[in-house]
Amino acid sequence: MTDAVLIDGKAFAAQLREAIGRRAATLKAEHGLVPGLAAVLVGEDPASQVYVRNKEKQTVEAGMASVGRRLPADVSEADLMTVVAELNADPAVHGILVQLPLPDHIAEKPVIEMIDVAKDVDGFHPLNVGALSSGEEGLVPCTPRGCMMLLHDVLGDLTGMNAVVVGRSNIVGKPIAQLLLAANCTVTIAHSRTKDLPGLCRSADILIAAVGRPQMIKGDWIKPGAAVIDVGINRIEAEGGKTRLVGDVDFEEAVQVAGSITPVPGGVGPMTIACLLENTLIACCRQNGVEVPEG
Ligand code: NDP
Repeated sequence: MTDAVLIDGKAFAAQLREAIGRRAATLKAEHGLVPGLAAVLVGEDPASQVYVRNKEKQTVEAGMASVGRRLPADVSEADLMTVVAELNADPAVHGILVQLPLPDHIAEKPVIEMIDVAKDVDGFHPLNVGALSSGEEGLVPCTPRGCMMLLHDVLGDLTGMNAVVVGRSNIVGKPIAQLLLAANCTVTIAHSRTKDLPGLCRSADILIAAVGRPQMIKGDWIKPGAAVIDVGINRIEAEGGKTRLVGDVDFEEAVQVAGSITPVPGGVGPMTIACLLENTLIACCRQNGVEVPEG
């Protein structure tokens, strides 16, 4: 078996962001609209700070407006809610994301439910979750959308394929399973209580790993020729006291068996922000009753 096709999410996301920039320029020229994305960051978590900074930079590069709200780690839930309410009411803001995780003293659920469903560009609001599962128009979570774009790019039509999703979180596993189902796959969702996970994974034409356990999925769990999408981002110790990022799939083994595979880093990761920008563009168009410009 020859090595798998590498699914280059970094290059795909760069093209997607360029196309979004062109579409934003069309929107401005034809309707005078500039999509605005607000990112609310509570506290000083270094990973969240880097992530929000990247979002803000890429928002501006795509010709959109970025609104940053930084709140101290000890902000009260009531004050955070007030900020969300202000952003809900601001007509220049079309997309709102509250960076998760929030500090322990703030419950995530009421904060997510406070975001105007039309501005919920992360797609985490219960009404958007319901829209996804019932096949209605809504805003779709970004990482799952990015995974589907990569799969369609490499496989084309997914109809009839067996898809196994390992992980059942609300932000990754479950929405990916919904999207695969909508694309006419036969979908199985696996989790920590699944029996014979290796055997189940071997039945998959499409294997999605969204677990958060470094290199858990081995080469002999993979059906020869399968498409493997590795959502996991795990930092492990490397030589010389350094650290490096790996996925949930043992890449070195899997690349010899799979038909196509996403690397970590450079696979799914870059797609998330690109899809967030596209969701903001879509949200802006819907809120203003105008057609979403073609890429
Ligand atoms: P969660 O911790 O919320 O969910 C993990 C899931 O994996 C759970 O459903 C859990 O099962 C399942 N699981 C854990 N251990 C096992 C096991 N041994 N066998 C089978 N299933 C298992 O994680 P997320 O969904 O939020 O994230 C998953 C990974 O994706 C992480 O590495 C995260 O960093 C990454 N990620 C990457 C993003 C990107 O942009 N590329 C965006 C979001 C996340 P159970 O429900 O039974 O506990």
